[in-house]
Amino acid sequence: TYILAIESSCDETAASIVKNAKEIVSNVVATQIDVHKDFGGVIPEVASRIHVENISMVIEETLHKANMKVEDVDAIAVTQGPGLVGSLHVGVQAAKTLAWAYNKPLVPVHHIAGHIYANQLITELKFPLLALVVSGGHTELVYMKDEWSFEILGTTQDDAIGEAGDKVGRVLGLPYPGGVYVDKIAKDGKPIYSLAKPKTENELDFSFSGLKSSVLQFIDRCKRKNETFRPEDLAASYQETAFETLLSRAKIAIEKYNPKQMVLAGGVAANSCLRSKITDGLAKEYSDVEFIIPPLSCCTDNAAMIAVAGTIAYQHGVRADYSLTADPGIDLEES
Ligand code: ATP
Ligand code: MG
Ligand code: FE
Repeated sequence: TYILAIESSCDETAASIVKNAKEIVSNVVATQIDVHKDFGGVIPEVASRIHVENISMVIEETLHKANMKVEDVDAIAVTQGPGLVGSLHVGVQAAKTLAWAYNKPLVPVHHIAGHIYANQLITELKFPLLALVVSGGHTELVYMKDEWSFEILGTTQDDAIGEAGDKVGRVLGLPYPGGVYVDKIAKDGKPIYSLAKPKTENELDFSFSGLKSSVLQFIDRCKRKNETFRPEDLAASYQETAFETLLSRAKIAIEKYNPKQMVLAGGVAANSCLRSKITDGLAKEYSDVEFIIPPLSCCTDNAAMIAVAGTIAYQHGVRADYSLTADPGIDLEES
């Protein structure tokens, strides 16, 4: 099965062709990071305009690199949501146009299902599975009893972890996206500062706004008292607190649900500190669970992950007609 997928939920215009839900034939991502850098964040109107400018080229390049024609693929998959509505629309319209023009099945995909299924590019997924989703807009523990079945066990009560990391980067004066640079400088730091530890009512939920404020207050206090601090140490302290909370929830879920596999998913899965906390820590502590981390190139937004999830959805009979519209509030559990 060959699936052509399109992803445009945020600030990456992406297309990909994947064979049999595991082999990347081609994968093209046009990122807008350099444009949004100047604003310190994604400007939705600007993002959707650039998607319009790039989408045809990205799809053409994907086909060209695969040495394939649209006629050769079995279906067109597309991210229906969540994301920025104007951005999502561009991908959905492009997918509908291709599906109509070439008479191909149209398969809508939930963006987070894509992030989770990115792991299938590494190895076959085994169920029951636990997914720790850590991205710009989501922080969730998802339980998959079986293939293509999603149950959200816990979620963030406020900020997503990626969003919090980006904010911490910004107040440290680092470039956009902040989380990437916090990761970089934290390598030269030590987690010597104590920051507010997130608390939640439900033991599987998350919260990051208190921790984020705690970083802001720390910086303010230093300025007020004319004290200096090492940004590297503050970055390391932030990451230590954020990831320890994250993994404490993951451990509770592992013990409760006894999964065969635990997968990491979403942009923050690219974080080097989190990756090593899982491979050197969690994986040793729970040796009967198989821990999987997506390839670095498939952590942040891309269409290969949408193609993989799209293939599974296609095999499960998921279809849309030409009335398909972008849905920023789409529910993963109803996928
Ligand atoms: P969502 O997937 O929830 O809809 P999104 O698509 O905007 O949100 P992703 O593209 O999955 O988010 O991930 C982007 C996030 O990942 C950003 O917040 C970015 O800072 C973060 N990120 C990327 N690389 C790293 C890294 N090495 N360390 C920490 N955070 C990172
Ligand atoms: Mg992005
Ligand atoms: Fe994403």
